[in-house]
Amino acid sequence: MSLGEFDLIARYFSRPSRRADVLLGVGDDAALLAVPPGQALVAATDTLVEDRHFLRGAPPDSIGHQALAVNLSDLAAMGADPAWALLALSLPEVSEPWLEGFAAGLYRLADRSGIELVGGDTVRGPLVVTIEVLGCVEPSLALRRSGARAGDWLFVSGSPGEAAAGLDVLRKEPQAAADDVLVRRYRYAEPRLELGRALRGRATAAMDVSDGLLGDLEKLCVASGVSARIDLDRLPISASLSRRFDRATCERYILHGGDDYELLFTLPAAIAPSVVRSLEPVCVVTCIGEIAAGTGVTCLRGGAVVAVPGGGYDHFA
Ligand code: ADP
Ligand code: MG
Repeated sequence: MSLGEFDLIARYFSRPSRRADVLLGVGDDAALLAVPPGQALVAATDTLVEDRHFLRGAPPDSIGHQALAVNLSDLAAMGADPAWALLALSLPEVSEPWLEGFAAGLYRLADRSGIELVGGDTVRGPLVVTIEVLGCVEPSLALRRSGARAGDWLFVSGSPGEAAAGLDVLRKEPQAAADDVLVRRYRYAEPRLELGRALRGRATAAMDVSDGLLGDLEKLCVASGVSARIDLDRLPISASLSRRFDRATCERYILHGGDDYELLFTLPAAIAPSVVRSLEPVCVVTCIGEIAAGTGVTCLRGGAVVAVPGGGYDHFA
């Protein structure tokens, strides 16, 4: 690579350590990290491939943000505190403006969420960004997909569907204003770390919505051995969505879009109202249905069962 692999790492991905638990960061053969006593290490990794996970020519800072955000979202869904990240970067060429933007987007979110980049790998190849994140949580408080029980209330955070709508806006008009609120929701999704922490030890099950609410809810139901009913009349349709699309389209974005990385979670009915009140300063959450015995996901409108075609996103379908 023209700048040189080692100069590139030194210039863009080596910063003085900010966390005392990083005993050794970028620069040696591997990082040395001190896991707090009594905590379990929570590990997740996600890969972004150009043209598949982000559009060719996307602003580099949005790619840096997105690559970290999708990973932080998995930590949020486990109720973990983010701690350390590793970055494996495959680049077709060394473009310093691109690297500068990418690193800026990545570090902006990293600093905001308290995670530190402690290592990685840099190679020449097609544009592919893989990040691995490590976090910590007390094992008994970790949020899993498997704990939902019949009678639990089902919640989703924030305004699901906005990011999927933003992606469609971009596909139709690639030059769409970069400050379009839906486009920004797609490019700069905010992982729900604070919500994940607030749900520790309270939610019976949780997961992040990455492949579409309906499809992901099915996974939660299978993991928990339960069924779920969604009340379509209660779906949170944001003003940004309803201003631009008809009701059916808004519903489709909410049920099948996944790029906004909201959390789907269940609470026992007995504690749900008080937990929801305590979440008010954290973020908006909406009860969209409930958990029951059996299997599968059913959608209701006006109390009657309605068929909703299509599940989540499957790379190999
Ligand atoms: P090795 O050959 O021993 O695997 P490398 O030469 O690949 O080591 O990397 C040197 C150091 O730079 C290591 O600490 C590695 O973790 C770090 N590193 C390499 N690429 C990146 C990157 N894109 N972001 C952060 N750290 C990186
Ligand atoms: Mg290496």
